[in-house]
Amino acid sequence: ARYLKTIELDGFKSFGVKTAIECVDGITGIVGANGSGKSNVIEAIKWVLGEQSAKSLRGEKMEDIIFNGTHSRSPKSMAEVTLTFDNTNKWLPLDFEEVSIGRRIFRSGEGQYFINKSRVRLKDVVELFLDTGIGRDSYAIFEQGKIDRLLSESPEERRYLFEEFAGISKFKFRREEAEKK
Ligand code: ATP
Ligand code: MG
Repeated sequence: ARYLKTIELDGFKSFGVKTAIECVDGITGIVGANGSGKSNVIEAIKWVLGEQSAKSLRGEKMEDIIFNGTHSRSPKSMAEVTLTFDNTNKWLPLDFEEVSIGRRIFRSGEGQYFINKSRVRLKDVVELFLDTGIGRDSYAIFEQGKIDRLLSESPEERRYLFEEFAGISKFKFRREEAEKK
């Protein structure tokens, strides 16, 4: 099936302690008190998929997502999040039963991306998920306020969404990349 199996967080926002969230093929709910980190989990997913805007992760600069310590725990020097997707039916075009996507950021601002533990470029991660409906800007993630924003967006922005649905973003992305060369 096509689903997210695990979310591993280490040093991402409130997750100063390495945490693994196991998801099921179906609906997984995250519950917790106010401020316990539920929204942080959703932001971690967007971040791994290539989110480049610190503001949309409620920060000023990207390094703000690194765990900055509590009274009992010291700050971390790196944030790392890994998503593992089931790929038994090869919905992602990689010949593996599971596909893991990882992203790291250091206090220096240096960032790294991984697909199945190999270093890749941001572009590789973005391209892997194009037209799957799961990209960083896709309709798969509906955070607070997104419905309102969609309704007030320009026709161009709305067209992007329909192109994702129709599965043509990948062709546009490749053409744009080719034109840059
Ligand atoms: P609500 O139910 O109110 O929506 P929530 O469960 O969604 O709450 P989040 O917004 O995910 O909670 O988490 C907010 C918490 O994350 C705050 O306590 C904030 O201090 C903490 N936090 C954010 N960034 C960092 C960071 N870099 N280091 C440590 N803690 C952080
Ligand atoms: Mg929240």
